[in-house]
Amino acid sequence: MPLVSLRNVTKAYPSSEKNGKPILAIDDVSIDIDAGDVYGIIGYSGAGKSTLVRLVNALEPVTSGSVVVDGRELAGMPERELRGVRLGIGMIFQQFNLFNSKTVWRNVAYPLTVAGVSKEKTRARVDELLDFVGLADKARSYPDQLSGGQKQRVGIARALATEPRILLADEATSALDPETTQEVLALLKRVNEEFGVTMIVITHEMDVIQTIATKVAVMDGGRVVENGDVFDVFSDP
Ligand code: ADP
Ligand code: ADP
Repeated sequence: MPLVSLRNVTKAYPSSEKNGKPILAIDDVSIDIDAGDVYGIIGYSGAGKSTLVRLVNALEPVTSGSVVVDGRELAGMPERELRGVRLGIGMIFQQFNLFNSKTVWRNVAYPLTVAGVSKEKTRARVDELLDFVGLADKARSYPDQLSGGQKQRVGIARALATEPRILLADEATSALDPETTQEVLALLKRVNEEFGVTMIVITHEMDVIQTIATKVAVMDGGRVVENGDVFDVFSDP
C-alpha cells in the first residue's frame, strides 16, 4: 500500500471577487507515493504545488476526492486526529521559517517541547540532529548569524526532530545558490537513505528533480499532466 495516496482530488478556493467563479487549484489529481520514495512535484508558479502540499499535510481540507496518509483517510478526519497526522510529517520551506529570537538549539528543540518530550530526551535528540546536519558548533548561534545553507540545515534538523516518516520540502533550495543547493540536496538524500524518510520535493527547478528524485509528477493548471520514474518522464519520447 502506498504511504501517500491521492484519488481524484480537487481543491477549489472561493473567488476573491463577489459572485466570482471559484478557483480550481487542484483538478482531479491521483498520485501514489510509496514509502522510501523521493517524489518530486514540478511545475510553474500557480500550477498548484503548494496547495497539494497543504492537502497532504492536512492544513487544508480537499473539496472532493480522497487523501490517504499512512493508511488513514484525511477527508472528514476530526481536527484532533489531524494534529497527530501532522506530527508524522516534517516540513522545510524556501524561507527556512526559523524563529530568529531562538538559538539554533532551541529551534531544533521546539517541536519536541511542543510535543511534551522530556528535557533529557530532547537534549539527546537535538544534539544528535545537530551532529547529523554538521552544525553542533552552531548550537548557541542565532539564525541571523548563519548562511542560507546553514539555516536550511537547521530547518532539516528541526523537521526531523519528531522522527516523521514523511518530509515535505516546499521549494527548499530555491533561495540558495547552486553549490549550496547541491549540499542541501545531498543532505536530504542522506535523510532518505539513512533514516528511510519518504521525501516529497516541491520545486520549479528541473535540476533539483534530476539530482534527487526517483519519481516525479509534472503539474500544470492544477492537473498532473505526466508522472512516473524521473528517467522515463524526462527522456525524449
Ligand atoms: P504553486 O505552488 O504551484 O505556485 P499554488 O498552489 O500556490 O501553486 O496555487 C494554485 C492556484 O490556486 C493559483 O491560481 C493560486 O492563485 C490559487 N490559490 C492558492 N492559494 C489560494 C488561496 N488561499 N485562496 C485563493 N486562491 C489560492
Ligand atoms: P532552559 O530550558 O531554561 O532554556 P537550557 O539549559 O535547556 O535551559 O538552555 C539554555 C540555552 O542553552 C538555550 O539557549 C539553548 O539553546 C542552549 N542549550 C541547551 N542545551 C544545549 C546543548 N546540549 N548544547 C548546546 N546548547 C544548548
